[in-house]
Amino acid sequence: MSCVVTKSQQETVALGARLGRLLQPGDFVALVGDLGAGKTQFAKGIALGLEVDPETPVTSPTYTILNIYDGRIPLYHFDLYRLEGVHDVEALGFEEYFSGGGACVVEWAERLEEDLPGDLLTVTLNHAGDDERSVCFDASGPRARVLAEAVLT
Ligand code: ADP
Ligand code: MG
Repeated sequence: MSCVVTKSQQETVALGARLGRLLQPGDFVALVGDLGAGKTQFAKGIALGLEVDPETPVTSPTYTILNIYDGRIPLYHFDLYRLEGVHDVEALGFEEYFSGGGACVVEWAERLEEDLPGDLLTVTLNHAGDDERSVCFDASGPRARVLAEAVLT
């Protein structure tokens, strides 16, 4: 697992944008971290890197669960904070997105427990001071390893 420290919200957005530029259909990014850790800011960067219109607001889809952004490829941005009970991807209707023509970025992906793709990139954000956050990349398969390496070089 490799980590970097960002010193501002803008640096986290820029780091997310680096990852967004690399994403291809079928890629899956799990965003882990407490409320306020910067998951949504990182997702906003991913959207920018995927050439989503910078005027489009990227917010936590807490009530809607899923926001879809129209970029170079579709971006499926989930926030599963409010997900309770059913942790079955098929029953939830997520399958078509997880195996679909876009990239998935999922806040609180750990709510799905074991029902996640095998090859995913986990990005964990932690408070490291007022405006500082540690951002760690952990790959669970070959495609995610390519992404983790490329985003940090
Ligand atoms: P989450 O989605 O994890 O709940 P958000 O991305 O919505 O968190 O919020 C992160 C908050 O922390 C924002 O208000 C942002 O301006 C602030 N912030 C301060 N420093 C940073 C940083 N280095 N990276 C990301 N966000 C930061
Ligand atoms: Mg959020």
